[in-house]
Amino acid sequence: MPNEPDFNFTPASQRPAELTGITFWFHFWQGRLILGDGPTSVPQQRLPGSDDAHAHYIGRLGEFDCLALALTEAPPDSWQAVPLRQGMMGLPPELAAAAGRAAQVVEWDRSHRFCGACGHPTERKPHEYCRVCMACGQSAYPRISPAMMALVVRGRELLLARSPNFPPGRYSALAGFVEPGESLEQCVAREVQEEVGLKIKQLRYFGSQPWPFPHSLMLAFTAEYDSGDITPQPGEIEDARWFDIDALPELPPPFSISGRLIAATIARLRQSDNPEPA
Ligand SMILES: [Zn+2]
Repeated sequence: MPNEPDFNFTPASQRPAELTGITFWFHFWQGRLILGDGPTSVPQQRLPGSDDAHAHYIGRLGEFDCLALALTEAPPDSWQAVPLRQGMMGLPPELAAAAGRAAQVVEWDRSHRFCGACGHPTERKPHEYCRVCMACGQSAYPRISPAMMALVVRGRELLLARSPNFPPGRYSALAGFVEPGESLEQCVAREVQEEVGLKIKQLRYFGSQPWPFPHSLMLAFTAEYDSGDITPQPGEIEDARWFDIDALPELPPPFSISGRLIAATIARLRQSDNPEPA
């Protein structure tokens, strides 16, 4: 079974002439992911109520092909339709990555059947994720919305904030979407200024994570505090504070890049508290 830790997912969009003997079919029904019982139970055959002609090749999980498609009727009783985030959190990371890509491709296909400029039906181009308007030629690719995340550090303290829609007690790094014409560096500076009223310096890239709810790409940074007093943005930030790394609130799970960003920064600060002898 494909649950070894080195089971890599490699995105690809070109369907091979023949599919591998084991193929993972990521089905969606009304935006929900179809899973069976157990943590790796992505269907390995196409389910009734789906059409192979509308399946999208999404890549390879180890040596096995992966496809994504939408059901046109409710799944059979032995399968369940679960919210994408819940389904992904229960899957091994590589299957979760494939499920996230599958969800975005199926959602792009569903929401671009008609041209956004002239309303004419579109058609799928065979070799890429592109739907083209047969009347005016406009192309529609899957939308990807870059969003930045910033963890601001001051000595041994982290700036963590709560958005009103977080679970009770949970705090995280600041985050916001990139605006047209804005660099990532400008976006981070603007978001931190808007959300908590602080100036930052020494921006440092941490890493990225596709976040398919519905189509974000999270880019995570750390930054050093420069100046200003915390002033939470009304409506956006319920609370924001400096937390010592030894007195932290509830944090995001390691499934998310916010969780990994915070954990890695805490480890780095502890390391600098206790440097290895030279
Ligand atoms: Zn058109």
